[in-house]
Amino acid sequence: MSTEYKFFDEVNKSFDRAAAFVDADPTLLGQVKRCNSVYYISFPLRRDDGSIEVIESWRVEHSHHRQPTKGGIRYAKSVNGDEVMALAALMTYKCAVVNVPFGGAKGGVRIDPRRYSEGELERITRRFTFELWKKHFIGPAIDVPAPDMGTGPREMAWVADTYQSLNAGELNAAACVTGKPVTQGGVAGRTEATGRGVVYGLAEACSIAEDMKPLKLSTGLDGKRFVVQGLGNVGYHAAKYMIEMGAVLVGVSEFKGGIANPDGIDLERLMAYREEQGTVVGFPGAAPLPSSLAALELECDILIPAALENQITPENAPRIKAKLIGEGANGPTTDEADQMLQRRGVLTIPDIYLNSGGVTVSYFEWLKNLQHVSFGRMEKRFDQGAYRRLVKAMESATGKQFSLQEESILTRGAEELDLVNSGLEETMAFAYQQIRNKRAALEDKVDLRTAAMVLAINKVVVSYEELGIFP
Ligand code: GLU
Repeated sequence: MSTEYKFFDEVNKSFDRAAAFVDADPTLLGQVKRCNSVYYISFPLRRDDGSIEVIESWRVEHSHHRQPTKGGIRYAKSVNGDEVMALAALMTYKCAVVNVPFGGAKGGVRIDPRRYSEGELERITRRFTFELWKKHFIGPAIDVPAPDMGTGPREMAWVADTYQSLNAGELNAAACVTGKPVTQGGVAGRTEATGRGVVYGLAEACSIAEDMKPLKLSTGLDGKRFVVQGLGNVGYHAAKYMIEMGAVLVGVSEFKGGIANPDGIDLERLMAYREEQGTVVGFPGAAPLPSSLAALELECDILIPAALENQITPENAPRIKAKLIGEGANGPTTDEADQMLQRRGVLTIPDIYLNSGGVTVSYFEWLKNLQHVSFGRMEKRFDQGAYRRLVKAMESATGKQFSLQEESILTRGAEELDLVNSGLEETMAFAYQQIRNKRAALEDKVDLRTAAMVLAINKVVVSYEELGIFP
């Protein structure tokens, strides 16, 4: 299905709709829209059995209005140049929307990672990193990759190690990539950040009574029935934190099919089942769904597509029953389908805002690497001492004695994970208000995606104009 839609064209349709509300030279807008640098790399891989295979890969830097550029590396059989360009563009808009000071980029290696041994994946990752380095497509101040579909902390550790070996003595070399294991310069909370950000964003959206009323929904996530498409890093963590907030998981799908249960699905038991069986289909007590797409059409309040692009199309959009769509994936809704849903009054919380938690926490990791000190290290003990003095003063003023347990809760100093989550929550809440305000400034004539895109384009345009990047 994804082949019917050119992903970059879909992104650009929503760009054009928003650009109509931006007061800028149309030629400059054309420049903002284009990808600044597109790098195609093919290299040979020696497989474990001695045979040779050609690996195709891409790195696209969409916008240099801020540097470094930033974005993940995807390992998937479906990767192609058009997809990587679209994803790189989305990174530019995403960073701008949440005030993360990077340009957008993306990488992709056209392989099904499940078909390769760990050793082969390591050789692919190191060679890809070397190819990036050779052409100045990687570096803490140039372009900083991160995980995406099919990659994770293990691959990022290989990227960092390869880059560091090529740049011995470069003090900030660890900041060449984010999403590293915590033991290798990563930051606490990065792995779960995108899913956590999705839930912070949905919590913010659902806290506004005025916006919930037309959807006939109460405020808050508690009791909301939701469906998630995709059980990868984003889908799993989004579902986990939704459940923590009191929401009920009524449907799940992954590439092999799905399951539904209107009374709720136990996520951890489901994950254990999938680990054992290799699929969610057949999970006891839940009805099987014929395909990954079928889950999109289930009865629910909130639908979270957290798999691939172009999943919600004009073909299935009329059958979608969710009142609110929270885009965990990049580009899950085609432009036409999006317009159909908006006309029906569905509230879409767009990808360029909602899934920006990953890059936001990547920004924190990059800062940590440049600072060479973990968050909280300097102030934790000082804060604890200050809180303890306050507790003692309260005790002597009131004559009440706190228990040891109460005292330890009241005097806890923030650790790195607390600060990362606090920074993420603030980023998501603030950006949502900015998007809503922009929508209001446009007299509610546009949807949230267009409002977010207008904000993003404006920021990029201002950078171009103020920096005067016109040789
Ligand atoms: N791959 C993630 C995304 O699509 C994260 C990018 C990053 O952390 O740089 O947003």
